[in-house]
Amino acid sequence: MPITWLDDVEPSLLADKRVLLRVDFNVPLDEHGNVLDAQRIELTLPTIKKLLDAQAKVIILTHLGRPKGKLKSSLSLAKVAHYLRDLIDIEVVFVHDCVGDGVSKIVQDTPKNQLIFLENTRFHPGEENNDPVFAKMLAKNMDIYINDAFGAIHRAHASVDGIVKYFKQPLGGLLLKREIETFSSLLSSPKKPFVAIIGGSKVSSKIGILLALLKKVDSLLIGGAMAYTFLYAKGENVGASLIEKDKINLAHNLLDKAFSLGVNIYLPIDHVVASDINNISSRVVSANEFATNDIGLDIGPKTRVQYKDIITKAQSIFLNGPMGLYEKDEFMEGTSDILHALADNNGFTMVGGGDSIAALNKLNLSHKVKFISSGGGAGLEFIEGKILPGLLALGYYQ
Ligand code: ADP
Ligand code: MG
Repeated sequence: MPITWLDDVEPSLLADKRVLLRVDFNVPLDEHGNVLDAQRIELTLPTIKKLLDAQAKVIILTHLGRPKGKLKSSLSLAKVAHYLRDLIDIEVVFVHDCVGDGVSKIVQDTPKNQLIFLENTRFHPGEENNDPVFAKMLAKNMDIYINDAFGAIHRAHASVDGIVKYFKQPLGGLLLKREIETFSSLLSSPKKPFVAIIGGSKVSSKIGILLALLKKVDSLLIGGAMAYTFLYAKGENVGASLIEKDKINLAHNLLDKAFSLGVNIYLPIDHVVASDINNISSRVVSANEFATNDIGLDIGPKTRVQYKDIITKAQSIFLNGPMGLYEKDEFMEGTSDILHALADNNGFTMVGGGDSIAALNKLNLSHKVKFISSGGGAGLEFIEGKILPGLLALGYYQ
């Protein structure tokens, strides 16, 4: 059976049903456990509201962080549940586990105009092991399963994958649908010129997406630390910049491939460098002008002008990864200029990646981007064309 989305279902069929809703509320927290950025929660509200309107009894399930199968109080979802209550002004009943008799009893006793919020799935080793026994426990006493967790859809974990077979007609949520449809249309019929901007720290984590995007885009702009592995592969002096020696061959191959496909691939032509990240005295250097101790930490002003010019002329833009060490103001300007140019573009603009979205928020530009993806790794794997376990379980690939 192909995937069934929540909005394919007659709302009356949801009334009085116990609906287990897998979301991705893996949000950043401060040291007191307070929610720092609620974007992922806000993006899921349409699904939650639709279920409440349909008179379903909604039970929210998510993971948070990496507790590695053990109870870790700093990764409790209690404060996230609180946050949700304040956000939608509906009573939220928090349950201190995600399986067991306690859950069944609270689900039984809670009226359907209140939300039930279960504790972190990853407190149980069965979650990440995709343990069928644990998956069955999660499914116990639930009538309907909906997955709206795009950010976790690439995980073969019990609450995403193993659980699905215990339901006759599992559903994909509204956010999941929007993400999949947006990525699909960008990849299958982008308005041209289509420009991808890829940055961030490592070539190794982004090589798959670079290769996949080469077949789709007109221009590929590379920034961030990963640019230095490419520049080094081309024989440039990059001083003490971060390079991945074992990825130099991959970088070479990618440049060759871009050439044979006729894709314009751009690397920084100047850089903001410093010899010590903590004792900052930065300066701008041109290609090959690095001193032995210089670390490249942002794209330079000439690169920004060149990249902005390409961005301004694009009709479709996808960005993943900051252009430099944006967490420090001294190395934020490249990322800032590029994100401003993207935000000012009237074509289709899309941003993915936790750090890229954090940078957008820092610059107050989120509202000017057409689509912000709630999934970092999931979005990258979708673009790469990998089979994503959560989508597979829901029947998407049939
Ligand atoms: P995203 O989360 O958007 O996918 P990544 O996680 O791949 O992005 O990369 C973000 C990280 O890369 C940030 O911590 C940023 O400081 C770092 N970074 C970017 N450019 C550089 C650089 N030139 N040197 C060191 N770190 C960098
Ligand atoms: Mg990141």
